[in-house]
Amino acid sequence: MLINPAFEKAIALQKWHDRKKAQHKDITVLPSLLIKNAKQVKIVDIIDASFDDKEVKYCRFNAKIKDILNKDDPWYSSCKRFYKKVDFINNIAKCPRCRIEKVDYEERYLLKLEVFDKKEHCYVTLFEATRYLLGCDAKTYTESISPKKEESTFYRKLVLSKEKEYTFLVKIDARNEGDRAGRRLIAEEIQEVEEAIAINIEDEDIELESPIRKTKHIEDDTDDKITYKRVKIEKN
Ligand SMILES: [Zn+2]
Repeated sequence: MLINPAFEKAIALQKWHDRKKAQHKDITVLPSLLIKNAKQVKIVDIIDASFDDKEVKYCRFNAKIKDILNKDDPWYSSCKRFYKKVDFINNIAKCPRCRIEKVDYEERYLLKLEVFDKKEHCYVTLFEATRYLLGCDAKTYTESISPKKEESTFYRKLVLSKEKEYTFLVKIDARNEGDRAGRRLIAEEIQEVEEAIAINIEDEDIELESPIRKTKHIEDDTDDKITYKRVKIEKN
């Protein structure tokens, strides 16, 4: 009997996609091709690397989250125009750059982590990339933690990320050399390592719509696991 494995996989993916949509999972937080295609390195390679050329390079490294430095407030009130942190004076938002009274602002992510691989540690700042970790945007996050943050699934996700291993995507150029020397990196994207191993459809030769050919989450429901297992077996 002939079975078309690409067709089987496409159906499995479509089902997964529909299910995530039904669960209101935000598919815009799925990992990009950039993280997949970036060169895999160690933290030490990034710290020691010197880039003479003006070329921008993307690297990824795996590391465990050792500490979440601002787990209670992983965001800031940001001027909508320049993304500057606004100051509140008598409950009026002021931006140091715009210098406008009652400036229009919004919550934006700013998460600070200390991470380590087997040899080195470093500090990683996530701005909008925090949504890859928490699965929602900053507005949704700040709303979810009110009135009790312990009841927020997103807050729990943040707390539980400690000691877990993630892949971090960083952009390296000559300008951030000083930050690299000080072990401070900005991650453009983050992906849990186990998730990445679970499925990697991009290696396949099938062409699918971009959102569903990306990798993501097996986490909670066993239904998903079964689907993924099957896809994996077919792959081999
Ligand atoms: Zn401003």
